Amino acid sequence: MVKENPTPSRSKKPLITMKFGGTSVGNAERMKNVADIVADCSQRAEVAVVVSAMGGVTDMLIRAANEASQGDRENWKNVRKELAHRHREVADQLLQAAEQATVLPQLTAAITDFENLCSGFSLVREVTPRAMDTLSSLGELMSAHLVAAILRSRGTAAEAVDATELIVTDDHFGNATPYFDETNVKTVKRLAGIRRRGAIPVITGFRGATREGACTTLGRGGSDYSGTIVGAALDADEVWIWTDVDGVLTTDPRLVPEARILPEISYREAIELSFFGAKVLHPKTIQPVMKKKIPVWIKNSFNPTCPGTCIVPASTNTHKGVKAITSVSKADLITITAKESLSFAQLAAKAFASLSVDDTATLMVTQSSADNVLCFAVHDADLKRVKAQLEKTFELEMLHDDRVSIEVMPHVAIVVAIGENMEGTPGISGRMFASLGRHGINIIAIAQGSSELSISFAIKAPDVKEAVKAVHEEFKLQGAEKQ
Ligand code: ASP
Ligand code: MG
Repeated sequence: MVKENPTPSRSKKPLITMKFGGTSVGNAERMKNVADIVADCSQRAEVAVVVSAMGGVTDMLIRAANEASQGDRENWKNVRKELAHRHREVADQLLQAAEQATVLPQLTAAITDFENLCSGFSLVREVTPRAMDTLSSLGELMSAHLVAAILRSRGTAAEAVDATELIVTDDHFGNATPYFDETNVKTVKRLAGIRRRGAIPVITGFRGATREGACTTLGRGGSDYSGTIVGAALDADEVWIWTDVDGVLTTDPRLVPEARILPEISYREAIELSFFGAKVLHPKTIQPVMKKKIPVWIKNSFNPTCPGTCIVPASTNTHKGVKAITSVSKADLITITAKESLSFAQLAAKAFASLSVDDTATLMVTQSSADNVLCFAVHDADLKRVKAQLEKTFELEMLHDDRVSIEVMPHVAIVVAIGENMEGTPGISGRMFASLGRHGINIIAIAQGSSELSISFAIKAPDVKEAVKAVHEEFKLQGAEKQ
């Protein structure tokens, strides 16, 4: 017997991992377009593909599971019909008979899993996070089977791969973290045969599995993360994230229509932007490629000739100042004030321990040690939970003569100006705040990390559009491409 070499010798072609998001695989026409992009690129490069579920499918699955767990026995049957209809329509339109014979049973198997799970949830009136992950990622399984079959129907060798066979994660269902060393070994090994056969692996995004083999998911929007996890494991030359916008913009075009595409941003800038609500990228996406310094491109599958944005290890752009502005418009400021009996360190330690219970993200933090005041912003969706948790944490102090008080300022927006080259450049915050002053916008709180990568400020939510526009204009970002 010939011993198989697990790591195929790399062809001279570069290796590109491409991830396609929900809108890029949203219907038959879009999937055909994906096949065109992949087939075209595979002439020049070796390609590994990662796909999301068809747009809207994940939401639909989660809704059905929740309804079933509340005892509903009907609604999920409509979802079952729609699931079957949307996927079979693509198969009907794009697959030759032989491919249909392969794929239809695969789709039916996923739909049967859906049915069995939902019927179980409605019986026991419960959906566990673990069962939810198996169910909510069925959309990825179906789209991977379809995209692989479409490629084959059009003459490009391709094989669907379930990422539960590649990505090893912890058991934090719903938001699992990969064990990278194990994932890298498994991914290389599992894909070796496919690559040796010259076929394109079409891998399910979003999904992973624990060491014991239970299906997990990487958090909503996690297929971007899957794309870079696979890219890093394969030592790809580049990762391309295909989405429905032309790239990363200087700001949200709904706030400032003059927003421009940024041809290049650094890893750190991309992480900062995605953390503060820029929807274009899942916040963890850059993490897997950092060590290997693999560039990540954001491209528009609706406009494939547009080059997009390249996310690079370090910015080569010497432009000093603000490069992009992002904002979170539904936030609240929580201010905790303690009397002298509690030192600032004690106050901060207790407050952050309280936030750590649910691993709540803070959008910005400010303090006044002299006055024993700690102030931080949280997403509005987290407020109720955070407030209850803080009240529990400080229950005793609040009982004793109001030694601690917790105040909430609602309807706040956090605006974040980002730019790696702001570091060491004097006058930037001066210019920024002067421009806000000229527009009559009152700033409630300000924070700048010592990395000088971003400056955040809190304002009243209704001021957000004008504030972002003012800063965008001050730094002439509408002309960003030329800088
Ligand atoms: N389908 C999953 C979601 O909607 C993962 C993704 O599309 O990135 O969250
Ligand atoms: Mg996404």
